[in-house]
Amino acid sequence: LPPPSTPFALALRALPPNPHNLVPLQRPPAVAASRLLLPIVAEEQQLLETVLLNTVSVVCGETGSGKTTQVPGMLYEAGFGSPGSDNPGMIAVTQPRRVAAMSTAQRVSYELALPPPLVAHAVRYDQTTAPETRIKFVTDGVLLRELASDFLLERYSVVIVDEAHERTLGTDVLVGVLSRVVKLRERRFVEGTGKPLRLIIMSATLRISDFTSNTVLFPTPPPLIHVPARQHPVTVHFSRRTAPDYVAEAVRKVERIHTRLPGGGVLVFLTGQREIELVCKRLERRWGRKEMERRRRASLAAGDDAPVAVSARLGDVEAEEVDLGERGDEIAADEDGDLGEDVNSDDEYNVEDEEGDEKPSETDAFDVPMHILPLYSLLPGDKQMRVFQDPPADARLIVVATNVAETSLTIPAIRYVVDSGRAKERKYDISSGIQSYQVSWESKASAAQRAGRAGRTGPGHCYRLYSSAVFENHFEPFAQPEILRMPIEGVVLQMKSMNIDAVVNFPFPTPPDRMALRKAESLLVHLGALEPPSPGNKDNALSGRITELGKAMALFPVAPRFAKMLVAGKQHGCLPYVIAIVAGLSVGDPFLREDVIGQKDDDGAREDEDMDDELANIKNEDLRAKEERKRRRKAFFDSQAAYAALGNGTSDIFRILAVVGAYEYEGGTASFCAKHFVRPKAMEEMRKLRAQITAIVRANFGDIVPPFAPRLDPPSEVQLKALRQLLTAGFVDHVAVRKDVAYPASATGAKYASCRGVAYRALGVDEDVFVHPSSVLFHGLPPEYLLFLEVVRTSKPYIKTLTVVNPAWLATLGRSLCTFSKPMQLPPGAGALGGGKLKAARLGGETRQVHVVPR
Ligand code: ADP
Ligand code: MG
Repeated sequence: LPPPSTPFALALRALPPNPHNLVPLQRPPAVAASRLLLPIVAEEQQLLETVLLNTVSVVCGETGSGKTTQVPGMLYEAGFGSPGSDNPGMIAVTQPRRVAAMSTAQRVSYELALPPPLVAHAVRYDQTTAPETRIKFVTDGVLLRELASDFLLERYSVVIVDEAHERTLGTDVLVGVLSRVVKLRERRFVEGTGKPLRLIIMSATLRISDFTSNTVLFPTPPPLIHVPARQHPVTVHFSRRTAPDYVAEAVRKVERIHTRLPGGGVLVFLTGQREIELVCKRLERRWGRKEMERRRRASLAAGDDAPVAVSARLGDVEAEEVDLGERGDEIAADEDGDLGEDVNSDDEYNVEDEEGDEKPSETDAFDVPMHILPLYSLLPGDKQMRVFQDPPADARLIVVATNVAETSLTIPAIRYVVDSGRAKERKYDISSGIQSYQVSWESKASAAQRAGRAGRTGPGHCYRLYSSAVFENHFEPFAQPEILRMPIEGVVLQMKSMNIDAVVNFPFPTPPDRMALRKAESLLVHLGALEPPSPGNKDNALSGRITELGKAMALFPVAPRFAKMLVAGKQHGCLPYVIAIVAGLSVGDPFLREDVIGQKDDDGAREDEDMDDELANIKNEDLRAKEERKRRRKAFFDSQAAYAALGNGTSDIFRILAVVGAYEYEGGTASFCAKHFVRPKAMEEMRKLRAQITAIVRANFGDIVPPFAPRLDPPSEVQLKALRQLLTAGFVDHVAVRKDVAYPASATGAKYASCRGVAYRALGVDEDVFVHPSSVLFHGLPPEYLLFLEVVRTSKPYIKTLTVVNPAWLATLGRSLCTFSKPMQLPPGAGALGGGKLKAARLGGETRQVHVVPR
């Protein structure tokens, strides 16, 4: 507690007593009873005293201790967010994920019996807030944007930054900014000119010191409220060997748990959507209710209703995966409740074997079907919520999840955890801009979190699909904060729009790499969002001020390049199309399955081709389904006459526009999505984002775009050309040139049939890049010049989301990037640009040869 003599404490004491500081709540009786069991409730008194007396507090406690669902209500009961109280401003709760912001808003609204909009959420594509909102769940990105227009956050009395241990880019920047805002509000409160703002940082019990002992962030360490865990012991089982095929291994492990161990839910951690669907499908085929019933009928028909040996029955379902010898051994060896795996002791866990209730009960469990639920963030919301519903009484709950289930969602009644040990992480190479989604080992901290999920309701088991040696030698203690592995131009622009000019001096919980900062600033200068550094002053390069254009760009909830296209896209009535394109690109690829490779997923999960093949190979019928999807996809682009040219044309970006257009043309129905295999959730998000961007444009720039209407007539030829030029302007530093054109000496004279295997050179990338197979251009003749949105490395570096570009535009639209040298004679036979001149151009600081056709 602050010493009674701090100016803040003195100002607090001077306040007269205020009856509005207590607001009774009417929780539903069931909630009132069950919340008493949550560990945080015992800390309520201490928590409220600490928060009232301090401007910054840190709350940490195990996942499931009640932080997210209970703390907002406690503050509300203490008058926060109530008109007339000492702290009338709203309560904000930030979440790193949209899913969590929406589902917790719903939950808290129900628990506190405060219907929307009293408790509301605001996320990028959706908001339920109104003037009477008291508790507002937001993503960290949304609150950052609010800070740009209201730096003191005058409408709020407290901001809870939840899940701070995840160290997302948004959370880190938010904590840095709020550390300053809180100071400003404190000063005004002490001077008697305003109300204070409290900041509460909530985190799982990981790396708390990043926030509590960071003197750059908080010169006086904030008080820590530690919520003691009521965690039941979890026995951790390492594997003896680390199986490379962890997907198959996960299936095997779940089956063993199911057939050998007593009732209780199983939670499986994998890395992404594709794997999850695959595992669910495999389990469903053998253990789903339908299959169990079929088998029961079959065995009754055979006059055999007595239980049979596990191996025999399994053998009947999928003979090739059953090794009778191995199973026989294990059944014999397995009288003590564990699965015959290597059990390693680990200080954090109880490694004792469990008591009698852990004895295997094969035959009981064996007749029970599995109730299998996937959980990942691209899953539609109603399907996600199924994990909170009670599973059927006669089935075993199996949840197959990404790390969404690691800390932010707590699934009840989990007794067994199967941990693949892997996580899919988005990596980003600062110098080349190449992104990749790599499956790599999770951190030790994550492994502990995952194991902990098994001990929520009683003693549990965690089966790790890796050995203790791998764990010791290859697992980092903690995951790297996102700020060290993501492009940061978006947050730099946001900070500049809050007039934080010297981003280098900003109190980041972990400062970003200098080079990443410099790159971000130079891109923003190039986009016209920042004033160029004054020549000769190196340090200045990191403190460029925002321009009027930059301020306009910062208004939009999209990446700076996209924002640039929006503010530059006024000509020829193009803006509605630019908005649709930007919305489409920001939401990510709407196509299911084979085109899903580049999806933007809150989990950072991006899928690769191999899994798709595996999925397709699971049975021939799937292969046929895949063919059918392809055929229908093609028919779709051929049949939507108005958009056909776009969809089959020269740009993946236009194909996205074509989908948006065709979808809305048919009234935006779910049946359209089913028929054409696009994700309804993505299409809905695109419409919402279009509406939101249109509203921002109209609010800030007037009637330059008509009010939002979902339906969009196809663009004219003139508009299409203007759109391509706009794209070129936004991505002029993202040009790839066919290698034989860039380096005529490398030309082999080979004739091209498609883009397969054809090398391109991309600016700033020191290796050959290739057209991604998902591109509309892939099967056609390889164009000489392409604009790309991103470089993604899977088996090799691929350029994705491509548009054919006219090189003549590069010289005019990208002049700031080109320094032209003397014209050179075109080597004979090279290039197809009408025998024009070849100019060597320096782009982005690197020498590349680029054709520029003289105008
Ligand atoms: P923490 O934030 O400390 O991890 P939470 O407040 O999220 O804890 O969870 C507290 C309890 O509320 C848990 O038992 C969890 O299962 C339950 N819970 C959270 N969200 C929901 C929901 N949407 N529906 C039902 N129960 C929920
Ligand atoms: Mg929580």
